[in-house]
Amino acid sequence: MEYLTISFYKYTAIQNPQVVEHALRHHCIANSISGRILLGSEGINGAVSGKKEDVQQLKAELLSIPLFSDLTFREQEVTSSTYHKLVIRIRDEIVRFGSPVDLTKRGKYVSPQELKQWYDKKEEFIIVDARNRYEFDVGRFKNAIPMDIQNFREFPQEAETLKQYQNKKIVLYCTGGIRCEKATAYLTQQGFPNVYHVQGGIINYVNELPNTYWEGGLFVFDDRLVLDLGEPLTNCQHCEEKNSQYINCHNLDCDKLFICCDDCQKTMKKTCSQKCFEAPQQREEKKRYETIGIIENYYPKAKTALINVKKPLCRNTTITIAGKTTPPFNQEINQIRNNRNEDTDSASAGEIITISVNQKVRRHDKIMLSY
Ligand SMILES: [Zn+2]
Ligand SMILES: [Zn+2]
Repeated sequence: MEYLTISFYKYTAIQNPQVVEHALRHHCIANSISGRILLGSEGINGAVSGKKEDVQQLKAELLSIPLFSDLTFREQEVTSSTYHKLVIRIRDEIVRFGSPVDLTKRGKYVSPQELKQWYDKKEEFIIVDARNRYEFDVGRFKNAIPMDIQNFREFPQEAETLKQYQNKKIVLYCTGGIRCEKATAYLTQQGFPNVYHVQGGIINYVNELPNTYWEGGLFVFDDRLVLDLGEPLTNCQHCEEKNSQYINCHNLDCDKLFICCDDCQKTMKKTCSQKCFEAPQQREEKKRYETIGIIENYYPKAKTALINVKKPLCRNTTITIAGKTTPPFNQEINQIRNNRNEDTDSASAGEIITISVNQKVRRHDKIMLSY
């Protein structure tokens, strides 16, 4: 597999998140890395995907920043990038919890090997899934207790239900470990004396000890949604076949997250019910863009753009033009002129052509086709 998806986090005070943001954005764009990185005075939380060598370079870049020199990465080999865009944001909280917590009170780590031993030896412990209920539903550790939450911010309130286990050994886990840092600190502050969390989360555990005590799929917050790690625990809502694929109902007024197999996605047009199937407001499939040319120059008087063609292009198609300071707009191509100033119906890769444009464009703007 040529691609790598990695996740990483560290709670640490970043004095100038803008500086880090700028450096990382520059690096990610230059290396075609997509994903999501949150930065703030609280630390860094990221999950990104790209070609293996590019991701390795990003790791090196991160480790070269003194603040992140001890960063650890959870890695998964994948066949293609698992994110379709890059989002880097500065936020007060790198994981939204709502209630302030003292992170020095976080629980003790339990390594995957130790956790497996506890299971093997049937030690007495309570294992709690700190994630959202829909994540629990598709996969969880053996005997895990769910938290009935839709959002991590509801954790403090829902933690009341754990009071019955207060003095037992409690193990929390989440996808990569970041949520448990806050969740275990919160429980300790609430008077739970014996709280653990799985080091590196589920991803670390299933990488090291596949096919042991993890059951079902793993929900991930990228384009894959659910990784099939074992037999599905859930069923397609329509045909009831074993399946663990989540989709959001395409009726915009519903938008419910539900399990649906490939076949039923087609027949039901990605909706959760007959009522939603017939509803007027349906989600459009996400448009994907392919760059087919780059603007080399713009002649304002003639309203003409000079284009370096990267992929074949024909007359009478509608393209999208966008760039750093050019907001995206659609443009119908009525006329193509080649470099001998002759009209032509099409142009192939490598040709330099001109077309008329209705709006101002700029050098380096992209010519894109949506599909
Ligand atoms: Zn089905
Ligand atoms: Zn629906």
